[in-house]
Amino acid sequence: MNILYCTSEAYPLIKTGGLADVAGSLPTALNHLGNEVRIALPAYPQALERAINVKHLTSLHLDHTAQPVQVLEGRLPDSDVSLYLIDSPAHFARDGNPYLQPDGREWPDNAERFATFGRAVVALANGASEDGWRPDLVHCNDWQTGLVPALLAQQAQRPATLFTIHNLSYQGLFPADTFSRLGLPPSLWSIDGVEFYNQLSFLKGGIACADHVSTVSPTYAREICTPRFGYGLEGLLQHRADRLSGILNGMDCSAWNPRTDPHLEQNYDVHRLQRKAFNKAALQRELGLPVDAQTLLIGYVGRLVDQKGIDLIIDVLERLFHHPVQLAILGSGDAALERRIAQASDRFPKQLGARIGYDEGLAHRIEAGIDCFLMPSRFEPCGLNQLYSLRYGSVPIVNRTGGLADSVIDLDDASAQDYTATGLTFDAETPDDVLEVCLRALRLYRGAKVDWWKLVITGMKQDFCWLNSATQYMELYRQLRSAEPAGTATTPPQKAALP
Ligand code: ADP
Repeated sequence: MNILYCTSEAYPLIKTGGLADVAGSLPTALNHLGNEVRIALPAYPQALERAINVKHLTSLHLDHTAQPVQVLEGRLPDSDVSLYLIDSPAHFARDGNPYLQPDGREWPDNAERFATFGRAVVALANGASEDGWRPDLVHCNDWQTGLVPALLAQQAQRPATLFTIHNLSYQGLFPADTFSRLGLPPSLWSIDGVEFYNQLSFLKGGIACADHVSTVSPTYAREICTPRFGYGLEGLLQHRADRLSGILNGMDCSAWNPRTDPHLEQNYDVHRLQRKAFNKAALQRELGLPVDAQTLLIGYVGRLVDQKGIDLIIDVLERLFHHPVQLAILGSGDAALERRIAQASDRFPKQLGARIGYDEGLAHRIEAGIDCFLMPSRFEPCGLNQLYSLRYGSVPIVNRTGGLADSVIDLDDASAQDYTATGLTFDAETPDDVLEVCLRALRLYRGAKVDWWKLVITGMKQDFCWLNSATQYMELYRQLRSAEPAGTATTPPQKAALP
């Protein structure tokens, strides 16, 4: 099949989170299954620098866009995946975070930026690429691409559309007058379109108009149909339940392989597990912590935001550090959380090694050096670090939610007996819950070593590489290609008053 994969980030071109990891890996895995996947991505400066063989492909004259938009073609590094880089310098020639200004606020023209990107994708979906390539299916991801299914649904003839939600909490919400400023088709201002409580919602456009909606784990697909996780979209998601499903993300098993990882002090695998200890000592040195094999070293890597429950960890440090425990933290995000972590690391220099910032190499060294990885996320659509932790023999300790619940098997009597346990799961409501599960890990680590190593080894043997997930996407693509498209122009949407 020909698949146009549109995304606002893709590793290694540009990355803010898990979406980039997926977009950098899934297309390659799908190509290995015999498809031709092309990625469409805004031509940010970082992406232009890192893409291979970039050259001009075509000019697009898009509705409501003053200047023609250039499409550059290139290749994703270390892969056979072609790229369409949508080059609109007024929108994308900005360094740094693709969505946020240097002061952490959103770019004020995000609606215009991603409407232009979406319109360019629609043109490519309709065969605008000069070599006549046409996709059978357009696979969209998160709010930045939400207008694509909405605009394509206006056409009688079009490719099938799949909209994947990587995180429902980011919605692309804009004031109602943005709708007319963007010159979108009036029929889209409807409760079956992009209108959401008299605001413009890019995300809703994707959910309401795509032929199928998927999320990045089966449990998250169920959770978002409830008020607790649905951000007001649960009614629509319930309504679309027969076209909503979850496929757990895979992980990049070549980049994240302790046997070959170039970032590590010593490479290891399940047969040479004793070498993991050298990585623990090296990490303790790197973070300025006392080198001690008996101390339980817990890790956290990720965005420092409310979603991740990092505040629950900070709140419990004082009590946790009465025990022989060290904590390695790498992350960046919310300024107040960054400050609290910096203060705590001044206060507990022997037990807290924290680095504020983004550091790919250190993320790998933490995964290899720690004993266990703590994820008290309040919600987690899939999560990747628990998958990396499993592969690196670092026991994941996770809240029972979303993709964490789908990928970690809790240690209990039955799972200990039949060697299926891979980590510890808990209900992360309060700091006390975090303390309790960390102490459970400590008892296991220092007491019953046999149970600990059984957990580690079973975890390392799990296979979360992309092939399994890509095969499930293929099955879904096939169904969508042969199915009747949903929400085409032939079914007039229910109108709301135009803004
Ligand atoms: P999310 O997409 O919600 O941020 P995921 O767990 O799905 O969370 O993916 C986050 C990815 O970003 C992981 O690969 C993680 O290792 C990486 N990451 C997050 N913060 C940092 C950081 N400060 N330094 C290095 N890697 C990071």
